[in-house]
Amino acid sequence: VKQTVGAKRGRRGIRVVVAVVIMALAYAGWRSLSVGPAPVITITTDRPAIGPATKVTAAFAEERGGLGLVRLELVQGDRAVVLAEQRFSRPSVFALGIGETTPEATLETTVGSKTQAWLQEGAAVLRATADRMAGPLRGPVPVVAETRLPVRLHPPRLEVLSSQHYVEQGGAGVVVFRVGSGTARSGVRAGSVESLSYPLPGGPSGERFTLYAIPWTLETADIRAFAEDDAGNRVEIPFVNGFKPVPPSTDTITLGDDFLARVVPAIASQTPGVPANQSLLHQYLYINGEVRKEDLARVHELTRDTAQRFMWSGAFLQMPNTARRANFAEMRTYLYGGRVVDHQTHLGLDLASTANAVVPAANAGRVIFAGWLDIYGNAVIIDHGYGLASLYGHLSSIEVKAGDTVEKGQTIARSGSTGLAGGDHLHLEIFIQGQSVSPLEWLDAHWIAGNVTAKLDTASGQ
Ligand SMILES: [Zn+2]
Repeated sequence: VKQTVGAKRGRRGIRVVVAVVIMALAYAGWRSLSVGPAPVITITTDRPAIGPATKVTAAFAEERGGLGLVRLELVQGDRAVVLAEQRFSRPSVFALGIGETTPEATLETTVGSKTQAWLQEGAAVLRATADRMAGPLRGPVPVVAETRLPVRLHPPRLEVLSSQHYVEQGGAGVVVFRVGSGTARSGVRAGSVESLSYPLPGGPSGERFTLYAIPWTLETADIRAFAEDDAGNRVEIPFVNGFKPVPPSTDTITLGDDFLARVVPAIASQTPGVPANQSLLHQYLYINGEVRKEDLARVHELTRDTAQRFMWSGAFLQMPNTARRANFAEMRTYLYGGRVVDHQTHLGLDLASTANAVVPAANAGRVIFAGWLDIYGNAVIIDHGYGLASLYGHLSSIEVKAGDTVEKGQTIARSGSTGLAGGDHLHLEIFIQGQSVSPLEWLDAHWIAGNVTAKLDTASGQ
């Protein structure tokens, strides 16, 4: 009985071994005949067309066998050039998947007339290739992905229609122009700051205008109208007839302990990120530097919410019975204990009256922000349309809310000294597409008539 049991066990063992051998042979045969799974290829570009310089990214993925050779080519007509190529080692078929593999790779490059001067208008093909894991009985079968893109090499047409553009450093202006079809973006570049255009109200198609900002840091007439297509072909035309440099003024502010004790904890309690465990001076410097930067970025973001119509008319209102305490573009040096601790530039108009004085809307518009805004304290921002906005800071109380439509002169708040304010006053700041500009021009009916109204009138329909 014992022997029989042993023989049965032996036969069962042989059967298991035979099964394993058959499976191994089957696997080897399958590996020899099959090729690896198809690598996944994705081609993306930063523009929908090829122009001077279009960024191309080809992403390759093959999780199981890993990637071997990956390649990116540009093809136009009979010409095909390799833009980028990479080869990765991978284990042989008989290694049964053991060894180093590269499951993912990315090829990045730039194509366009800047790097491929031979490109012609029309179309071109971006071709990405990845080889596949080959079996001993099979050659590699590459996987190919292609993207066909239009090639455009000429910038759109741009013609300036308005005339007599006299502008100032830190100021604003309006220019009217006509752009050709295929224009994707147009506007004005002043230094490194771009203000985008809008269709001219009531004008024929293709006629546009830009209410543009000139940064307070721009010291020369580097101001151009521009138009570009979706391929990045760009034309720039100078149009400014006169440019007046307005150097920033300077001021020195002495930080006293009483002032720090009053403003710093009040801001720190409402503004996240202020290092509350450090000295009042450290906290102040953080607020005056970092928080100021964040607030300007926030205003830039908030003022994107703008209507495509003129909601305002005539001169902007200066808060009644106020004296100007500080001007636009004032470079301030901050002293503490007799030494210089900071430099910042003040970018509004400080208007002082009596405490808790009535603050009127400087012009008609729609409230896009009403609430706490760190260095500005309690603040209101009004959109006036086409990228123009006014900000009212250091308020003691607010009488409007976001979404409200306001008339020129309507009471929106009471003045105060919230945020970074030495005493009760209104901080009035004017923004064009998020860029601070001098409020003085907007308080001047004569300036508006000559530089905004006249520009829009002379150009349209003439
Ligand atoms: Zn101010």
